[in-house]
Amino acid sequence: MALKLYNSMTNRLEPFTPVHEGKVTMYNCGPTVYSYQHVGNFRSFVFADLLRRHLERKGFEVKQVVNITDVGHLTDDSDEGEDKMELAAKKERKHPLEIAEHYTNQFLEDWRSLNLQEPHARPKATEMIQEIIELVEVLLERGHAYEAGGNIYYDVTTFEDYGKLSGNTLDKLAGHRVEHDPNKRHQQDFVLWFRNSKFRNHILKWDSPWGEGYPGWHAECSVMSAKYLTPAFKTGRFKPEAFETIDIHTGGEDNKFPHHECEVAQTEGATDKKYVNYWLHPRHLIVEGEKMSKSIGNVYYVFSLVKEGYDPRAIRYVLMGTHFQQQLNFTKEGLGAARAALERLDDFLLRMHEADGEEDADEELRRATDAFGKALDDNLNVSGALAAVFDLMREANKKKLGKEAAKRVLEAMYSFDDVLGLKMRDVKPQTADEAVEDRIKEREAARQRKDWAEADRIRDELAAEGIELYDTPKGTKWRKK
Ligand SMILES: [Zn+2]
Repeated sequence: MALKLYNSMTNRLEPFTPVHEGKVTMYNCGPTVYSYQHVGNFRSFVFADLLRRHLERKGFEVKQVVNITDVGHLTDDSDEGEDKMELAAKKERKHPLEIAEHYTNQFLEDWRSLNLQEPHARPKATEMIQEIIELVEVLLERGHAYEAGGNIYYDVTTFEDYGKLSGNTLDKLAGHRVEHDPNKRHQQDFVLWFRNSKFRNHILKWDSPWGEGYPGWHAECSVMSAKYLTPAFKTGRFKPEAFETIDIHTGGEDNKFPHHECEVAQTEGATDKKYVNYWLHPRHLIVEGEKMSKSIGNVYYVFSLVKEGYDPRAIRYVLMGTHFQQQLNFTKEGLGAARAALERLDDFLLRMHEADGEEDADEELRRATDAFGKALDDNLNVSGALAAVFDLMREANKKKLGKEAAKRVLEAMYSFDDVLGLKMRDVKPQTADEAVEDRIKEREAARQRKDWAEADRIRDELAAEGIELYDTPKGTKWRKK
């Protein structure tokens, strides 16, 4: 079955066909590193990771780029706010780049703890200034941009398709209030390069043909996607004619407008080519039934949940477990349920390592493999895929599998895990440890003489050391928690 994805550009479920057979280019809008990234931000990245892993399991060669925004993202969409990085720097009395480094490091740590695959490039906006200037030059040459009051603006009236992604066409935006900027020809025009703003003490500035300044937020994503996913910058200079349409672009639903709409206007205005074939926008999440907000104090971060003792695998499980087009209610109860599901999974994997019966599970395996792939091909229906995994576990648990059959089950589980990213290969029976084995024998002896108190005492003592006992047909085994 072919993969189908819900494309926000056409608002339809569409069969996925990449530009180049067997290859996929994918751009995921990354974080603005002025503060910690919360679980809502990570929902988007877990979704992108799941998509990439599914494509790779299907045999596609995926190239993934996730940017880091460290300049130019304003607090207000209408170009009148202050740069988020500069504002954070003032508040924390640090240089904007120190702020960026601090929050980038935490972001990367959370990224790894959720077992997200490394993208092929992770460019920073501050490293792309030359390329951004080149894009702005092309837009000026082609009449899509103009200089006014020192800033360079994109002229949205020159781009007929403005609004095609978000539905916010200029007609519809006519009544939409934005802070009035007398330099703009049309109030929906957006800044490509800032020289003048209300915030004259902007620290990060670069030379440009239009004077010292800094880029607008949207420009970086057009540039980075072109640079790392297409041959447009191959010779070091921006060559619009060498640009190739990108297969997939993702970002949280709040990025759709104005950010992604402006990216489309920039890249298509500069190249006359279609920017992206498939736009995917995961929905927001709420926590404990409420909107997350710093003022309510209910913002969940990956690292703080881990500090509280929640397993990063359980966090990943919850973030990926709800379909990307549905709102996810992220709760601590949900993390508990995920933990229980993962324990069932781990117990199952350990049992497969110990199997010594005679039955096979070929039919169950065939069914599960088929159902797993079909569910994900259906617009990344992850709950269907997880159901296939747990059905297989339930069926296999009813049987006394032989060694070879259990090995085949494990191989199938590992193949599912190439997409799910739950580190199933790490779940193995513990290798020998004499001290532990001796205490298990003592416990066995206590149980045989029906000294339950002593048996429980030994079990609790081991549990306190992080050693968990479980029963198998071959007697009691143990593993580190
Ligand atoms: Zn972006």
